[in-house]
Amino acid sequence: MGALEESLQERFGLPSFRPWQREAIEMLLEDGGRRVLVVAPTGGGKSLCYQFPATVLGGTTVVISPLIALMDDQVRSLAERGISATYLASTLDPDERRRREQRLFDGELNLVYVAPERLRSRWLVERLAELRPPLVAIDEAHCISQWGHDFRPDYLRLGEVVAALEPPRVLACTATATPAVREEIVARLGLAEDAMAVVLRGFARPNLTLAVEEVDGLSARRRLALARVKQALGAPRAPRGGAIVYAGTRRNTEKVAVDFEEAGYRSGAYHAGLDPAVREDVGARFASGELDVVVATNAFGMGIDRPDIRIVVHVQTPGSIEQYYQEVGRAGRDGQPAAGVLLSGMSDFGLRKRLIEMGRPDGEHSESVEAWKARQWGLFLDLMRYVEAGSCRHDFILRYFGDEREVLGGCGHCDVCGSLEAEGERKVSEEDALVVRKALAGVARLRGRAGLKALAASLHGSDTQRVRELGLTQLSTHGILSAHSEAWIMVLLRRLMTAGLVDVTGSDFPVPFLTQAGIAVMKGDAPVRVLLPRTGAGQKRAGQRRAGGGSRGPRPIPVDDPDFDGALYEKLKEARLEAAKERGVPAYVVCHDRTLREMAAQKPRTREQLAEVHGMGPARIESYGDRLLRVLVSHP
Ligand code: ADP
Ligand code: ZN
Repeated sequence: MGALEESLQERFGLPSFRPWQREAIEMLLEDGGRRVLVVAPTGGGKSLCYQFPATVLGGTTVVISPLIALMDDQVRSLAERGISATYLASTLDPDERRRREQRLFDGELNLVYVAPERLRSRWLVERLAELRPPLVAIDEAHCISQWGHDFRPDYLRLGEVVAALEPPRVLACTATATPAVREEIVARLGLAEDAMAVVLRGFARPNLTLAVEEVDGLSARRRLALARVKQALGAPRAPRGGAIVYAGTRRNTEKVAVDFEEAGYRSGAYHAGLDPAVREDVGARFASGELDVVVATNAFGMGIDRPDIRIVVHVQTPGSIEQYYQEVGRAGRDGQPAAGVLLSGMSDFGLRKRLIEMGRPDGEHSESVEAWKARQWGLFLDLMRYVEAGSCRHDFILRYFGDEREVLGGCGHCDVCGSLEAEGERKVSEEDALVVRKALAGVARLRGRAGLKALAASLHGSDTQRVRELGLTQLSTHGILSAHSEAWIMVLLRRLMTAGLVDVTGSDFPVPFLTQAGIAVMKGDAPVRVLLPRTGAGQKRAGQRRAGGGSRGPRPIPVDDPDFDGALYEKLKEARLEAAKERGVPAYVVCHDRTLREMAAQKPRTREQLAEVHGMGPARIESYGDRLLRVLVSHP
């Protein structure tokens, strides 16, 4: 056991660091000091990253946190461990505050938590500077971002405060930060980006099975949502745990809630338009297990910590990847298998456009309304790229947050990995590029005359009354994509939208038009960087699939593979169990049964061969590769 672990045991009663905690702490403790940003989910254990160094460094560490209840709680538990700490907030009565300040200035405290509004006092900042704190930690650092969902004007001052305190070490912590917000944190705290280490870990949720289903029309969405919840919870008579169903509008939550009630589930609707007492009642009854299903807008969720939520269904596509991952992440907090199902279809584009048009940036944002709208649309398109993703959904999200280290490399816990080939980027052939340009030409000829459905019908060459009424049969692009079905063309049009080549108006009947980028691609001034949708079974086109061998397509589970070695499989399972125990993670985090079964058939002997096994990504090979190889190589 290392020296750090020993003091961890002694001071905090914990057996070991989480790997990323150790990494962050070691960096902070480096000679000369460091600046570190830790991004890890709520409950991941970020506070240890400043509490522990505080005890090692001695002196008085300053922690800035906006959550008074949390400060109070932390101060108490530190006190129980014999670590002297207190907090300063405007809620304290003046006598108590002076008493605490006196202890602080006498140098009796190892940690002092300060609420950001207290730092308006220059006097306090100067006194803190005199203490020469070895470390300043900023919790909930995303509150500094005017783009974040939790902006606090008092946080804007923290750059100045850090400059005044001149600490050798700065730690910023947050649970939510997209790359843009991370950059803003670093900039506003006045920390040069190149001097800053970012530790971003713990976002992987391997017990969550992610899936996207394409469906359109509210009634079809409602039926599918009910079916998925039934699968996850079982019959309404004895449901296994709870479900959250998110809808895009208040009216829809009420409609969908009726479906669940009629099906026999104990359910309720939840949205900001309801009486607060009603809302509170629904929230409390769901938390206590009296309700099985809540159908809600995104107003629902803050403070929901029911552990046995088995499924989160989005009847309509939400506004961003961040929002989606936060909402779907409410499933399976108990670590047991849970599912996230996102229903997505054409009408989501129009709905989101309308919601954005009606919305306004809140708080003291500096950007213009137009800039805000453009950014919201961009965030939504990012999510639609997730919907369209041709590779692992978990990895897509982890990469989006920049969490490369936890990328699972074929997780076995999403619909893409489960059923499709994990496909890298295919080069767009001339033939495919032409299809894209034809579709774009179709959009251009339309000149605002019709919606996407009619356009798809026309490109396919359908001669329906509707298409004729709209005058689309007259277009030179009518029937230009007759080799493809209307449904396929719809998927293509959607990809053109997520690729930013086509946009739709925000009116009640959204009409597509070409963007500047779309015009450039159509004219051949810019290359085509859009993958054509998969052609449905039975109509695969020659040359579309990658040539044999190297493809990492789904192979059959090799239990009945003649090469499968049962004894080796058992040994591998033992090794996995050991690794899981050591790291304190469930076995499936190390790797899945399916991966081990394949391994017991393929019998890889090198790291390269190991990478060929389904589910063995670089992160897993890094963490467990050697251990598994030892078993594989020593097996006769
Ligand atoms: P965060 O600030 O990231 O939301 P906390 O710091 O409040 O999370 O920690 C959440 C919980 O995890 C706490 O109960 C804490 O005791 C526990 N915890 C933190 N680090 C470890 C560890 N290395 N081993 C075991 N438990 C830990
Ligand atoms: Zn996957």
